[in-house]
Amino acid sequence: MTMTAASELAANADDLSVWPASTGRLPHGGLAVGGVSLTEIADRFGTPVYVLDEGEVRARCRTYRDAFPDAHVLYAAKAFLSRAMVRWVAEEGLGLDVCSAGELELAVTAGFPADRILLHGNAKSPHDIEAALRLGVGRIVIDSPSEIARLAAAVGTGGAQKVMVRVVPGIMAGGHEKIRTGTDGQKFGLSLTDGSAQHAIARVLHQPRLELTGLHCHIGSQITEVKPYVAAVRRMVGLMARIRDAHGVVLPELDMGGGHGIAYRPGEPALDLTALARRLRTELVASCAAAGLAVPRLAIEPGRAIVGPAGVALYRVLAVKRGGERVFVAVDGGMSDNPRPALYGVRYAPRLIGRRSTAEPCTATVVGRHCEAGDILAADVELPGDVHPGDLLAVPVAGAYQLSMASGYNMVGRPPVVAVDGGTARLLVRRETLADFRSRDIGG
Ligand SMILES: *Cc1c(COP(=O)(O)O)cnc(C)c1O
Repeated sequence: MTMTAASELAANADDLSVWPASTGRLPHGGLAVGGVSLTEIADRFGTPVYVLDEGEVRARCRTYRDAFPDAHVLYAAKAFLSRAMVRWVAEEGLGLDVCSAGELELAVTAGFPADRILLHGNAKSPHDIEAALRLGVGRIVIDSPSEIARLAAAVGTGGAQKVMVRVVPGIMAGGHEKIRTGTDGQKFGLSLTDGSAQHAIARVLHQPRLELTGLHCHIGSQITEVKPYVAAVRRMVGLMARIRDAHGVVLPELDMGGGHGIAYRPGEPALDLTALARRLRTELVASCAAAGLAVPRLAIEPGRAIVGPAGVALYRVLAVKRGGERVFVAVDGGMSDNPRPALYGVRYAPRLIGRRSTAEPCTATVVGRHCEAGDILAADVELPGDVHPGDLLAVPVAGAYQLSMASGYNMVGRPPVVAVDGGTARLLVRRETLADFRSRDIGG
């Protein structure tokens, strides 16, 4: 490797652009987030550990509210949920989007107002529906024809539940095939193209126990372009106009879902929120004017973009294998705390922290400790060539869809979550221990 290439890599390795805004450099290769040294967090709470920057989460909530002052902004709980997270989101004035009785009950028991919660899901269990009605959620998003009668029966005579209908607008978008939900041929929503959305809407409108407040769509995830959202708005408004023509009903709400893409590595594109807000608004106003429709109240449901960049995962290196073509750096976590690389081939930019290395960089594959060859956290990343057991690796942009998708694989136990803010660290969720595994296993 030439010196220029080496120093370029070193410069990239030192790029903090995808880290929380509060991140600061400390002597000897240390980093602080929220005013707290990551090395100290690793020492105090053990590894692996997830660090969540409360200020960053709150700032992102506020950025959304400022960018979309006329819209309902609902945080998509499935990205990450804990009682503290519920409180932060509530205090910042957002609504909440949940997809199970579990997420719903956690939020409500942590004090989130149920009428600001929306429940969606392609297959809601009887328990989900019972909890939603008992707790009084603001909206239930109908995702299949059979749900209409089931929900109406559960509501009972004299009751009324506000609902939306999830429409598949036929828009292709999203960072990976497994997270594209805007087209036919995947499990979510009711198709606009084959008329099943229109059919379901007519049935809901004839069901007195269900009050249709509007339409919902969610075209995918990790979308970095504004265009597909604009196209989806146009189609959704077209459908709203046809509903008005066919049924004489003007729906007051339009939920465009989430899916706003973020950068996981320096230099990657992210969705431009200001542009999204402006162009959604412009398209909504223009399409409604063309159709002679009153402009519905917009709702959006960001998950990843609120919490993803606020999280940092810390791992301790347990083993390094050199030789052959690759350097494997094995850490004390892996697919049980972050299944995303295995699921979608996502790329991360881990970095060594807590010591300054002058070694030439090497190309390494950071792997987990699980019994799967696909247990890779970050393939082909640059790390100092002298990386060794005992080193600490930090992975930025670790706040979304990691712990919420974590598993009990190999009984390693899910890592704790530590919040940092204003120079202090506090435990939000403790580490899962063998006692937790044992207590669920009743032995019969
Ligand atoms: C997953 C999901 C979201 C959030 O997606 P992000 O990519 O995290 O923004 C919002 N709405 C619905 C219906 C979803 O399924």
